[in-house]
Amino acid sequence: MTTHLTVKGVVIREVDYGEADRILDLFTENGILTVRARGARKLQSRFAAVTQLFAYGEFCLRQSRDRYDLDSAVSLSLFYGLRQNMEALALASYFTELIRKVATAQPQPQLMRLFLCCLHYCSHQTYPLAQLKAIFELRLTVILGIAPDLLCCISCLRYEPPRPILRLASANFICTDCCLTHHPYDMTVSISVLRAARHVLFSDFEKVFGFRLGEENLNQFGLFTEQYLLLHLDKPSLPALKAYQTLTGTHYDIPSIYQTGNEYFL
Ligand SMILES: [Zn+2]
Repeated sequence: MTTHLTVKGVVIREVDYGEADRILDLFTENGILTVRARGARKLQSRFAAVTQLFAYGEFCLRQSRDRYDLDSAVSLSLFYGLRQNMEALALASYFTELIRKVATAQPQPQLMRLFLCCLHYCSHQTYPLAQLKAIFELRLTVILGIAPDLLCCISCLRYEPPRPILRLASANFICTDCCLTHHPYDMTVSISVLRAARHVLFSDFEKVFGFRLGEENLNQFGLFTEQYLLLHLDKPSLPALKAYQTLTGTHYDIPSIYQTGNEYFL
């Protein structure tokens, strides 16, 4: 039996198929769907633009058993800016890689919203890419229910100690005064980094992008969000992350972190 389905979604993979078709993976309100777009590579195809990588559109699909064919589509945004900046493109690819790891068959509207906003800001270069990357990574932990508890020091309950030590493995923090022994994946950060992390974790979504960090703090914040996420996703293989790191010279392939002063000890 054939049924019809209309969904909004982003093309997160497109491969050529046959003489003129494309097979698409769409990240939609209903999870990831694999769709065949017949004739999409023909010059005069009305689907040519909306079936490109990162295109966001409304797709009318014909479903037969577990297969989907594209009937029609309307483009909502093509994020053209991603094609003009290699680093932005690499970051968008990393977001896509994470989406593939965490998307489920259930509707995930918060994940879709975060993904779309980050693609938009990457495309327009509204915020530093390093900041967008960190926000995506940390806010993703909220959506997945694996966010760290950064409310106060786990020992003395101080809210803003001068040198907080983020404990990536136990997903909380302790202040330097209370810390008797260092654990693997401990990371001493500035109070600005702790504040930024709380902002991303606790803000309403509309406000989550609205903060600034200096370069050094942003680097530290990015190291924390990346390592925290990778650790709690069981260190998945992420080639797009490696490509982004190589392109931007921010390679943190660190098995465990322990930081004193401004230096990291591996
Ligand atoms: Zn304390």
